[in-house]
Amino acid sequence: MSNILIINSGSSSLKFKLINMPGEKVLASGVVERIGLKESLIFYESGSIYVSKKTNIPNHSSGLKEATRLLMDYHTGVIKNQDDIAAIGHRVVHGGDLFYDTCLVDKKVKEQIKNLFSLAPLHNPPNLTGIEVAEEIFPNTRQIAVFDTAFHKTIPLKARKYAIPNKFFEEHKIELYGFHGISHKYVSQQAIEYINKPNSKIISIHLGNGCSMTAVKNGESIDHSLGFGPNNGLIMGTRSGDIDQSVIFFLIDKLGYSSQEANQILNKQSGMLGLTGNSDLRDIEDRAYEGDESCKLALEMNAYRIKKYIGAYAAIMNGLDAIIFTAGIGENSSKIRELVCKDMEFAGIELDNDVNEMGSDEIREINKPESKVKILVIPTNEELEIAKQCYQFIQ
Ligand code: ADP
Repeated sequence: MSNILIINSGSSSLKFKLINMPGEKVLASGVVERIGLKESLIFYESGSIYVSKKTNIPNHSSGLKEATRLLMDYHTGVIKNQDDIAAIGHRVVHGGDLFYDTCLVDKKVKEQIKNLFSLAPLHNPPNLTGIEVAEEIFPNTRQIAVFDTAFHKTIPLKARKYAIPNKFFEEHKIELYGFHGISHKYVSQQAIEYINKPNSKIISIHLGNGCSMTAVKNGESIDHSLGFGPNNGLIMGTRSGDIDQSVIFFLIDKLGYSSQEANQILNKQSGMLGLTGNSDLRDIEDRAYEGDESCKLALEMNAYRIKKYIGAYAAIMNGLDAIIFTAGIGENSSKIRELVCKDMEFAGIELDNDVNEMGSDEIREINKPESKVKILVIPTNEELEIAKQCYQFIQ
């Protein structure tokens, strides 16, 4: 039995979870928020113990020290000392074409993660910070990096390459890398077990603040809606998703925006926010319910885009066994699921509207019994997937 500490380090937050493997038992979890800002917050949970406090956390190092203190504290703790942690698993968003597998962190790996900063400027720097502070606090513990892009390594060239001059692929590595791979891998494996069919054709739909879809054939990612960067495919909270690139040139050349401003518009001011003024789907659903036309249209547009990708992915797989809804919106919004699955009988997708309305924290099937395609709601669990990969790695 081994305890794996999972760290997901963001620019101003550090999430952690201690999982006992292989039993998959969560011993404790928590998050340090507003790192480096006035009034940082720390939440910690272990069994029936809850800690929630405002404190001063100037940097990630103090954040992890505080988390470690709680994990080992006489009253709140679950372990005695650092030796009770077998390995620390770090979520790293971008592995580029350097990392296709989980790996042990050493000096070279850190250097390579740094070299990938330009591909994931918002994520890889804080991910590396998480690794560095964990090394500082746990100098004798194995640090393992798990990459979000790794699951998509199986996407074939015909889907991975963009139809631009080859030199951009060969010399500059401009290609589809994909994101949310840890989540897509976790839920698609859950689905394969659930439907008990290893050679299956599955579409995994991850709808959180960022949204993406993956075509998973025989357990492998074969296409994915995000690409070189995190703004392709679906309509997201603040990101446009698919857009005719002429719009970008029009913004810059005709309307006088700088490239940074255009980037900001498409990534931070678009998507559901640009369409409605709200980025949180709960607010948009409430306003739509009260009759707001812009919110009603935004929900229709959101679902329409997902529907188009379902059609495309069913076509490239020559069939479909199951679709999965996961993450904040996928797991909770019966409205989006209903709009997506409406009028899809031709593809064998038939939603049971009553079951769709029922909530649960467990994997659940929301299709009609006669539906050829299973419609599954599967809570994602990226930390558990990282713990599984780390545990496998250290065996
Ligand atoms: P992140 O990508 O940051 O991990 P989440 O997976 O937590 O995001 O998803 C956040 C999104 O989930 C938000 O748009 C939020 O409105 C939506 N969401 C959460 N709960 C519900 C709910 N009950 N109904 C509809 N949408 C929800």
